[in-house]
Amino acid sequence: MEIQDNIVVGMHYTVTNDNGDIIDTSEGNDPLMFLQGAGNIIPGLESALVGGKVGDEMEVSVEPEQAYGEYRDELRQQVPRDAFQGVDEVAIGMRFNAETDEGQITVRIAEVEGDTVTIDANHELAGERLHFSVRIESLREATDEELEHGHVHGPGGHHH
Ligand code: ZN
Repeated sequence: MEIQDNIVVGMHYTVTNDNGDIIDTSEGNDPLMFLQGAGNIIPGLESALVGGKVGDEMEVSVEPEQAYGEYRDELRQQVPRDAFQGVDEVAIGMRFNAETDEGQITVRIAEVEGDTVTIDANHELAGERLHFSVRIESLREATDEELEHGHVHGPGGHHH
C-alpha cells in the first residue's frame, strides 16, 4: 500500500524552521493520524508524501505558500486598549477569538504600547519555510464514514 488519496496515514514527524528550532514533533507521543487528500495537513507536505510506504523516512521542505501562507501585513492592526474591556491584563502572546466577515479567527496580541494594542491574525507560522522529517508508521484504507467526514476516526483521530 502506498500513500494516495483516501488512505489513512500514521506518521511520526518533527518540524523545524530555517533556524533549526523545533516547532513541533510527535516523538514521545502517538503518531499523527490523518486522511490523505482531505487537507488535514498542509498542502506542501501532503503532496510530498504521495507514494510513500510504511517505514519510509523523508525530509521535506515546504515553502510558506504551501504551508501556512505568506505573512500578510494587512492582518496586523492597531486597536485601542479600550477594545479589551473586561480583560484584566492585556499581554503579548495572548490569544482570543474574533468574529470577522470571514468567520471566526484566532488573533494574538503582538505588541502593547501605551493605549495601543497591535493584534495579528496571521497564523503563527505564516511566512515560515518549514522542514519536516517524517517516518511513515502505518497505512490503511479509510472507512466510508471517514471519507464522508474528511477526517480520521478512532485512535489518533476524532471520537464522536
Ligand atoms: Zn467524523
